[in-house]
Amino acid sequence: MSTTTPGAPQGQAPLFSGIQPSGDIHLGNYCGAIRNWARLLDEYRCIFCIVDYHAITQDYDVAAMQPRIRSAAIVNIAAGLDPDRCLLFVQSRVPEHTELTWIFNTLSPMGLLGRMTQFKEKSRRNEDNINVGLFDYPVLQAADILLYHAVVVPVGEDQVQHIEFTRDIARKFNLRYGEHFPEPSALVPKSGARIMGLDGQSKMSKSLGNYIGLTEEPDAVWKKLAPAFTDPARKRRSDPGNPLICNIYTLHENFSPPEVQEECAQGCRSAGIGCLECKKKLFEHMMKVLDPIRARARELEGQPDYVQDVLDRSAAEAKAIAERTMTEVRRLVGLR
Ligand code: SF4
Repeated sequence: MSTTTPGAPQGQAPLFSGIQPSGDIHLGNYCGAIRNWARLLDEYRCIFCIVDYHAITQDYDVAAMQPRIRSAAIVNIAAGLDPDRCLLFVQSRVPEHTELTWIFNTLSPMGLLGRMTQFKEKSRRNEDNINVGLFDYPVLQAADILLYHAVVVPVGEDQVQHIEFTRDIARKFNLRYGEHFPEPSALVPKSGARIMGLDGQSKMSKSLGNYIGLTEEPDAVWKKLAPAFTDPARKRRSDPGNPLICNIYTLHENFSPPEVQEECAQGCRSAGIGCLECKKKLFEHMMKVLDPIRARARELEGQPDYVQDVLDRSAAEAKAIAERTMTEVRRLVGLR
């Protein structure tokens, strides 16, 4: 993939990903996103953006916004986004995101935006607040990505449609005004992309209350894990089960070593172990991953100046890239 487009950051291929401003990051976010991002830090020029402009498209508590942004920064750093190897900044510190959105708006068909799956779902959930920002969300997302000439965008399955839209916008811009933007690719993780909630009914999500928070204390984690939904075929301890349809086993695949996964899978099929025992093994290995993350998050909570410095430094670097992009875009579009 080319990294030589005008205004693009030099060196490794740029990767962009947006982070919702929330400290309530759960195991699904960790397994499906953050952990994979952390593995990409040396492979790409990683740019992570806490997307506060996106967050205000839905009802929110104004007073809680800044604490939520800080919390998102802390938990993501603690979970592996080493700020010495990536940019981590807040979207509204770089207003070029909205300027490029406006230009992209003029290339975006209303009909296509109205058919976006996520817009339709969010509109159903927020019937009293179907605002233009919600409708325009994919255009802002395209601007987020293309402002940095990102060629790779790690996303979940539900966001692939938006990356397709971003590619369309890049193509249209290049055709209309001259070659400038790359067409980015979605990078969908092979494992951990779909961690189900503790109810076993839908994807793990904060709003559904079926989640385990990444920095929750061990007691709280166990209280949630112990009664979590398993294979319903295992009504009695002597009933065999199928680990492949059990979310606890999916979590084992994400946290336990291969020999423990094998032991639990066999024990499940033969009714050799009970679900509680299986969950205890999971808890033990999960804590080996979560303990250091929780400890680092607590440490960072006591270092607000350091966290602010990370966000400031990253914003300054991101803004320098964004300004270069917009200088060229304005020239191509004939605005200045
Ligand atoms: S033994 Fe483990 S994998 Fe099997 S149903 Fe129970 S919790 Fe799930």
